[in-house]
Amino acid sequence: MSYVLGLKCRECGQTYPQKGVHVCELCFGPLEVHYDYAAMRGKVTRESIQAGPHNLWRYRDLLPIDGEPRSGHHSGCTPLKRARNLERALGVQELYLKDDSANYPTWSYKERVVSVAVTKAVELGYDTVGCASTGNLANSVAAHAAIAGLKAFVMIPHDLEQGKVLGSLIFGPTMVRIRGNYDDVNRLCSEIADKYKWAVVNVNLRPFYTEGAKTYGFEIAEQLGWRLPRHTVCPTAGGTILPKIYKAYREFIDLGFVADNQPKIYSAQAAGCNPVVEAICAGHDLIKPQKPHTIAKSIAIGNPADGYYVVQAVRHSGGWGADATDTEIIEAIKLLARMEGIWTEPAGGATLAAAIKLIASGRIPRDESICLCITGNGLKTVEVVVDQLAPPDSIEPRLEAFDRFIARHAAGEVLPLALGA
Ligand SMILES: *Cc1c(COP(=O)(O)O)cnc(C)c1O
Ligand SMILES: [Zn+2]
Repeated sequence: MSYVLGLKCRECGQTYPQKGVHVCELCFGPLEVHYDYAAMRGKVTRESIQAGPHNLWRYRDLLPIDGEPRSGHHSGCTPLKRARNLERALGVQELYLKDDSANYPTWSYKERVVSVAVTKAVELGYDTVGCASTGNLANSVAAHAAIAGLKAFVMIPHDLEQGKVLGSLIFGPTMVRIRGNYDDVNRLCSEIADKYKWAVVNVNLRPFYTEGAKTYGFEIAEQLGWRLPRHTVCPTAGGTILPKIYKAYREFIDLGFVADNQPKIYSAQAAGCNPVVEAICAGHDLIKPQKPHTIAKSIAIGNPADGYYVVQAVRHSGGWGADATDTEIIEAIKLLARMEGIWTEPAGGATLAAAIKLIASGRIPRDESICLCITGNGLKTVEVVVDQLAPPDSIEPRLEAFDRFIARHAAGEVLPLALGA
């Protein structure tokens, strides 16, 4: 049973049947999946969701698939953690971390969008999927294509971290490294989608793909005991996840699953690529494209496809935006690891660093519930911390050597190998 009515233009309302299209023929507005919410009433309930599988498909009635899922049977349902140590460090009362660094199988939030897109690609009869990616999406497309038995072409900027490059290649896709930044890759992928008739998940399958990101918001609400955090801080790259978390909250409110506590949502970006945060803080609707310069490569998108909708969601909710320098991002990565035992990548560091600023400035009150969106895993981006975490000199396997080590350690004389040698 599917509640999908079809696709609908977000700007002019023109409707389309479900197929691999993403822009309106009349006004070039983006298309979005359109559901029959009235038909869901009484049928889709908290209980029906709780009776579903322990993966993101427990929300399938609110996702655009018609048949059975083709991948993602172990994706989603990631931890929502109460962050007691960070609460004390930041002086806030109720802080949660939604941790998609533990999402299966490629350790980022992208499993959510790709599980839906790959399933839809099979339903629509495609045998090849592709993507324009800053790294995590390519990893996820390559893995889920392998699971579903599809051919995969992943298009990435040439200068990504090794963990992101190998994290795709291991699954056997065709990788195309493009000499340009993400925005160049994305432009090329639009032409590729037109010419090659592939399911490019974040281009022509975008209306279906983006809906998968709602599951991140659904899980936060369900895991909080059918309750919404008052404040949610979320990283922004192309602008998919933030508006979809907000849409997820609104859908649960409208279906009567959670009380409307007027949830506010906040965008976090790197200072070296902050077109959306800049628009939010300046009160503009239009996003001024930038050339990214930041270690936060997974969110380095200078001309975000859905940046406009991030600004709208943030403003509608009464939220705000903040950015973080590369130094602040690295400090936040270490703080999160040392306080909560989570190793995130720069996108998560930017989110925590932005949240710290929003709390310090009073935008987010200290006595209300806060959820931070941790969207990716630090093991893929060792480059950003390797200079700071050089291992100490090695010792002989004898107790005297250990005693000397401890004495030197107590005297502050144990230096990292790189500095001490
Ligand atoms: C893709 C990505 C995001 C957010 O991207 P959107 O395009 O705005 O949805 C955030 N964090 C990580 C780690 C990502 O890979
Ligand atoms: Zn239109």
